Amino acid sequence: MRRYGCLQAIAEDVGDALVICTVGGAAAQWNAIRPGDGNLRCRTLGLVSSIAMGLALALQNRMVVALDGDGALLMNACALPTLACQRPGNLIHLVFDNGVYESSGLRPTATLNGADLVEMARGAGIKHACWASSVENFKQEFNKAKERKAYSLIAAKVEAGEDYRELPAFGVAEVENAYRFMRHIEKLEGIRVVPLPGPRH
Ligand SMILES: [Mg+2]
Repeated sequence: MRRYGCLQAIAEDVGDALVICTVGGAAAQWNAIRPGDGNLRCRTLGLVSSIAMGLALALQNRMVVALDGDGALLMNACALPTLACQRPGNLIHLVFDNGVYESSGLRPTATLNGADLVEMARGAGIKHACWASSVENFKQEFNKAKERKAYSLIAAKVEAGEDYRELPAFGVAEVENAYRFMRHIEKLEGIRVVPLPGPRH
């Protein structure tokens, strides 16, 4: 199974959801499939799930999708029990387990040694956590999660070393991405997230 294929399969189902992407190929691939200011690339390894959870709790009528990885989730594994406690029903947490730290030289993660991310999630108290067995099943599980309206974690074992160098660059720097994302939310929700400078500034 390839991550790119999984992302392509759910693109239409994601619609205009806010998408928080982990660093590396997932962000590049997703942004190639659905470019726009509704994508936030999280450059700090591990924080995707926590940022997505906060966003989902703050905007409870808006679907939020987290694109997480094995290295990232292991880095912030303490997010799992918090996600189980908070369980925002508008958050779908997708975890692509390629067994490596993709952005830093393809070194193995603990999942290659048997760490099972879905079992970890279940052990932390997450009720709806599953492995997808194929791209088709991944899409099915995604749509089941949408209908369920309960926090769901869907993991997929994917190939390591997918080549994303030919895809368009993400295109915006980290701070610019954050501001564009916030302005995008302001327009969607009709709210002010970051005050504009007043006339005297
Ligand atoms: Mg990985």
